[in-house]
Parts: sequence; structure tokens; C-alpha cells
Amino acid sequence: MSDTSVLTRAEAVERHRLLDVRTVHLDLDLTRGREVFGSTTVIRFGCTTPGAGTYVDVKPAGLRRVVLNGRELDVGALRSGRFPLTDLAADNELTVEADMAYSHTGEGMHRFADPADGEDYVYTQSFLDDGPRVFASFDQPDLKARYTVSVTAPPQWTVVGNSVGRQVSPGRWEFAPTPAISSYLVSVVAGPLHSVRAEHDGIPLGLHCRRSLAAHLDADAPELLEITRQGFDHYHRVFRHRYPFDSYDQCFVPEFNPGAMENPGCVTLRDEYVFRSAVADTKREERALVVVHEMAHMWFGDLVTMKWWDDLWLNESFAEYMAYSVTAASTRFTSAWTGFAADRKTWGYDADQRPSTHPVAPGTVDDTAQALQNFDGISYSKGAAALRQLVAWLGEEAFLAGVNDYFDEHAFGNATLDDLLRALAAASGRDVHGWADRWLRTTGVDTLRLTDGRIEHTSADGGRRPHRLTVGHYRRTAEGTLELADRVPLDLAADGAVAQPGAAELTLLNDTDLSFVKIRLDPGSWQTVRSSLGAVPEELARAVLWSAARDQVRDGELAPGEYLELVAAHLPGETSVHLVDAVLSFAREFVVDCAVPPAGRAAALAGLAQVCRTLLRRTDGEPDRTGLRLVAVRGVIGTAVGESQAAELRGWLAAGTVPGGPLLDPDLRWQLLLRLCVLGAAGEPEIAAELAADPSDTSEQGAARCRAALPDREAKEAAWQALFHGELSNYLATATARGLWQPEQAELLDELTTRYFEELGSAAGRRGPALARVLTTVGFPAFAATERTVRAAEACLADPDLTAATRRGLVDQLDTLRRAVRARALTEQ
Ligand SMILES: [Zn+2]
Repeated sequence: MSDTSVLTRAEAVERHRLLDVRTVHLDLDLTRGREVFGSTTVIRFGCTTPGAGTYVDVKPAGLRRVVLNGRELDVGALRSGRFPLTDLAADNELTVEADMAYSHTGEGMHRFADPADGEDYVYTQSFLDDGPRVFASFDQPDLKARYTVSVTAPPQWTVVGNSVGRQVSPGRWEFAPTPAISSYLVSVVAGPLHSVRAEHDGIPLGLHCRRSLAAHLDADAPELLEITRQGFDHYHRVFRHRYPFDSYDQCFVPEFNPGAMENPGCVTLRDEYVFRSAVADTKREERALVVVHEMAHMWFGDLVTMKWWDDLWLNESFAEYMAYSVTAASTRFTSAWTGFAADRKTWGYDADQRPSTHPVAPGTVDDTAQALQNFDGISYSKGAAALRQLVAWLGEEAFLAGVNDYFDEHAFGNATLDDLLRALAAASGRDVHGWADRWLRTTGVDTLRLTDGRIEHTSADGGRRPHRLTVGHYRRTAEGTLELADRVPLDLAADGAVAQPGAAELTLLNDTDLSFVKIRLDPGSWQTVRSSLGAVPEELARAVLWSAARDQVRDGELAPGEYLELVAAHLPGETSVHLVDAVLSFAREFVVDCAVPPAGRAAALAGLAQVCRTLLRRTDGEPDRTGLRLVAVRGVIGTAVGESQAAELRGWLAAGTVPGGPLLDPDLRWQLLLRLCVLGAAGEPEIAAELAADPSDTSEQGAARCRAALPDREAKEAAWQALFHGELSNYLATATARGLWQPEQAELLDELTTRYFEELGSAAGRRGPALARVLTTVGFPAFAATERTVRAAEACLADPDLTAATRRGLVDQLDTLRRAVRARALTEQ
């Protein structure tokens, strides 16, 4: 929001020196209509310098009353979300009464009306500096306090909070005081919720969602509760400190921006994770990872919180690393690390090669606006990969011993990178500080290139990192497949020591994916990959190879056509749903839609369609245990072109099934209809009929996507107005943006591509960071990979008035765009 200040690090340091926040009593009134709610906060706090002044953060629709130590203050003193407090005493009591506005962008207190049944739901997202849109606070992570929350709600509602709560009279809810927590973690979820309750190891568990999803949550509850129990058991096995809060509720909420949010005892998750349609196992695994990721935060982030946002990685990288490690070790998703290699890690590789990259542990993050930009592939994916490398180097036992000492020392308080490094160094006796300097304080990905049995080790910044990894040697069997001949550990010291791998048909560096590094194969091994990638016996090693091929395309070292040849040769026989899903996504979204020149696009798309159809035939008549067939079906739908294929899709829609299955559920129906709309083979009557048959929010989003995808000027203009000049919610904006840009409609969209760069700055500035992210990700015309688009993006970036979120989004897209332009040139040479 442009009308409020960002908090600088210097201000936070000063306020921390001055204040000791003890308790916060928060009373919310959710019975005042659909626009505003009432918020009364009473904060009791000490001040080290009586007579000094400070300010409290509050971003109200209307400020009613501020009382400090019995003195009524002039509410007109509020400026840019800060209310000045002067002449503090040693002990203070501050009362702030305000009317707060509900939001529709997932920031602050989001309000949602369910189109399925007209019921209303609200939830808070206090993160990162949106808490003051709900309640007054000294809003920084290192001013923790005990919160006691009361809520007045319509009597038929259920209210969930950070601690155990009860309804003391109709509509009146009171919650137990929390332990000391940071303001960004305060959470309230309310509405006519459907709840499933259970218990594990003395911890009350709750699953909650809106009423229209009740049947779906009931169907998924056994799996969700099993993952939750497995997570608690694992954490209680490896951490000395027991779960530090009094209950564990997981609330699935609508129109949520992130995957989930780790509010202590009251985790919020996007309610697409209550599956309404069939999903592949990759999606179930993703949900399990999110569940245990948020659980890890109960320790990393909630029990011990970073002192300031520069140590965000202490929260996210650890939660991410623990999530993969716990999921692989303690749940049925034993190949979670393959998903990490094939998909999640590419987020980190891509981010680390962009101009916007930053160290995992940046030296300084000056303010909250900058902090928000660091919720990226570096803090999550690269940070987790670096921790995996650290564990490979220290051993898990020493790692966990250090972590446990760190929890003991800082429980219910705050900590910094240095606190953690000291604990790890003491527990392991190793030079963890030296390791951190090379891995956490630097940027860029190392590359290991194998030539004539020697490893050439290079870094963008010249600072080659130490790597502990394995090297796999594969030889050909009599049957013509490949087998692992041997696997040798390799410590690649930062000074560039090299090993002499033995002779083999295929030598694969980092074949168990222990390190965060790009690999390049020797020419002989690459020949083996071209002919026999699918015959490499382990899926993790195949994931490493697909990932290497992927970044060669992005780096302009492998022509898009050659990548597609690999896909055509080796994906139809692939058995890992992780790999099929990840490779098809990249092949479609980057290679076919952006990196192949327009003249070759039709052939490239047809080739990909052929791969999907072969996968579909291969899975005919088999039970679809992992969702591989579902991924193939989605691929066939998304690549359909021309009259006859459109007719085929229409036939599926009419029959309600794909021949041989699966039956069409809402997701598949909307995907089919979207493709028909893109091709001009369906229109408003079909969209309206589909929406009328199932008037849910999923359908509203499906309809928005379809309408924006229609190949006519009027439809595009309507989508444009809604997206850039309207008040769409975050989710409807995402759906509209996804529909708008279709590579098939390049000519029709040419004028809008120019307009995008003219109108982006003001639209994104007006709607705030969450919508800026939508407009610069799915809202970006990525398929228009030409020099002209590059120049337009560069000109747009020269505008000094772009918000931090818009600028960051655009910088990242420009990097991908340049890579696509370079890849196109490779073909056009
Ligand atoms: Zn997280």
C-alpha cells in the first residue's frame, strides 16, 4: 500500500532498544457488516527511557480512539500507518480502537463470499507487515508478546485462533493467552466452518474449511491427519523441545496468496489443497510437504524467530529442508527428493542466475518492502539445497545437536545467523562460519564441467564453493540398458581440486543431488544421455540429467529442438510422475511457448502432443495410481489444435469422460473448455452453462479464464479492463491473466503487449504487492519473446515510480525473456 510507511531496520533496532512489549489484548468485532470490522487493542509495555517517544503501527479505515496511560490522544495524529506516542512512562498501557477494512487481496483480514452457498468467511494474514491492517501493534519480529484474543462473530460462526478457544456466549469467543509470539504470526479464522477434530500425542488437532468443501475435506482428512501425526512424531524424535503451543489447527482458506502460513497453532493453507478434483501424486506430495513445512516453522520461526527479516532464511530454508527430509523419511512420499531435484530446485537455480539474486543470508535488508522481495527461490529452494549440502558435510547427528542447542538457548525469543552458526560449530567442531561465508553469504551457482576425466569448476563470482557430492559411473549391460557400475564420494574443495573419474558410458556428477550446482557432461556421456536417458536406472539420477538439459536450454547451450528430441525419445517410457510432470511443464511453458521461433511452433507443439498421446496409450487400462495418466490427459488437452482435435475434446466433454478414463471432474471440464475457447471452438454459451451447473469459486475462476481466452478483440478488451482498471480479487485476477495471454493468439495480442508496459506501473502500484505479483508473473506476456518486448520491458523498468514489488517482478521476467530470445536465435542461426 503506497499510503503507508515501510519499517526500516534502523527504526526497528531503535524501537527494540526502547520497548519491552509484555501483553496484548485484542478484541475483534466481526458483526459490523461486509466492509469493516471493529478492532480494539490494549498493549502493555515497558520503556527503557521514560519521557521518550515512539509510534505504534496501525492502518485503519477509521481511527476511533487512542488512549495512552489514561490520556486521550488526538486521532488526527495518525500519519502513513504510524501513530506517534510521546512522553512514555516506565510502564505503559495503550488502547487503540479502530474500524478496519476487510481486504480482497489476501492481505490483512480477507473476506470472501462463497458463490456456492452465499456464506461469508474471513481470515487474517498478518504477515509481513499487514498485521496493522487488523490490530495496532509494534509490528516487528523481535518485539514478541503474549496475545489474548477475543472475538465477537455471528452466532452460527466458528472462530479459530492461535490458542485453544471457546464460545463463552452465542457469538462470543475467548482464546487462552499465547506464549510470547511475534505480531506477524497472530491469526484469526472465522465463518460457518466445517471442522474435523482429532488428537495426537496430547495435542488437539483441527482441520477446518468452508462448508461447501465439507465432503472433500472429510475425504482427505485421514491422509491429512496421518501426515500431521507422522510430522509430529518425526519432529518429537529429532528435536528436544516439544511442540511449543497448546493446539494445532490447520485452516484451509479461500483466495490465499502463499501456499500456507505458519501461524502458531493456527496454520492457514490455500484451500485448493482440499482437492475437489483428481490430482496426480505430485500434488498430494506437494500438500504433504506444505503440511510438514508449516509444522517445522513451529520451531524454526515461531519458537525461535529471526530478529530481523535479513535472517528470513532461518525460517524458510530450514522449514523447506526439514519438509523434504521429513516427508521422504516418515511419510509414504519416499521419493520427495526427486521432486526437489526435478522441480522445486529449478526455482532456486533460476533465481540465483538473475540480476535480482541475493545471498541466502543477505548482510542487510534495509526495510520491510525489500524483505518482501526475498520470499523467493533463494530463501526457499537454494537455502534448503544449501542446508542439504551442509548436512552432507557435517553429518545429520551434529546438525541436529547444534539445532537443538539453538532452540534451547533462544526459545520464545529471537536469533540471528551468527547464533545458529555458533551452535552448529560448537556441536560439530567444524568451521561452520567458513562454510557459511562461502555458501550463504555469496550469490550464484557453480558449474562443474567434465572434460577428459577432469572437472572444471567455475563460479559466476569467481568464489568456487566447496562441494561434497557423489559421482555415478554407469555402464551398458548386455541387454543394452544402463547399470550403476560404481558411485564414489567426492569432496571438491574450494581450491579447485579435481578427481579422475573412471571410464564409463556415462559419468554423472552430483548423481544423488547432494549439492546445489550445475553440471555439464563430457561429450561421450552426453551421447549416452541422448540415446539412453530413459535407461538410467534411478529416477533421482534421471532428474539430475533432465535438470542439466533444462538449464542448458536456458543458458543457450542446447537448442530448443534438441531438448524436444530428448523429450520425444525418453518421456513416453518414463515411469516417474515427478519427471513427466516437470519435463512436460518446462517443455510446454518455456520451450514450445517461448523459446521455439514462431515458424516452428506448430511442429513443436505437435511433437509434444504426440508424447502426451503415447503416454495416454501406454497407461490405457491400468489403474492410475500415481496420476501419470492424468498428467498425460492434461497434456493432450493443452496441446490440442485444429478442427478434428477440437471435435474430439467436445466429444469428451459431452460424454463426461476421457475414453478409458478418467471421468471429467470440475478441473478437467474447465481445462477442456479453456482449450476449446482458445481455439475458438466454444464461447459464452458453453461458459455460462458450465458456470450454472456448478456455481462455485472454482467455476468463477474457470469462467474468468475462459472468457479472457476467447480469440476476439472485445473479450480481450474486457479482460484487460478488469485486470488493469478493475477491482478483481487476487484469485480472479490470476484466472483472468492466465486466460488473457495465449501464444496461439500472438497477432491478436500484439497491441496489448505494448499496452502492458505502459499500464503496468500504475495498475500494480494502485493494487499493492499481491496484485503486482500477479501482474508480473502470470500477467506477463512471456510468449512474446522478441527483442522488441525486451526493449519495452527495459524502458518500463526505467520508470523511477515503480513499486519494489513491480520492479522485482519485471526484472525477473526480463531475465527469462532474454533467455527465450537467445534460445530462439539458436534455432534461427
Ligand atoms: Zn515457510
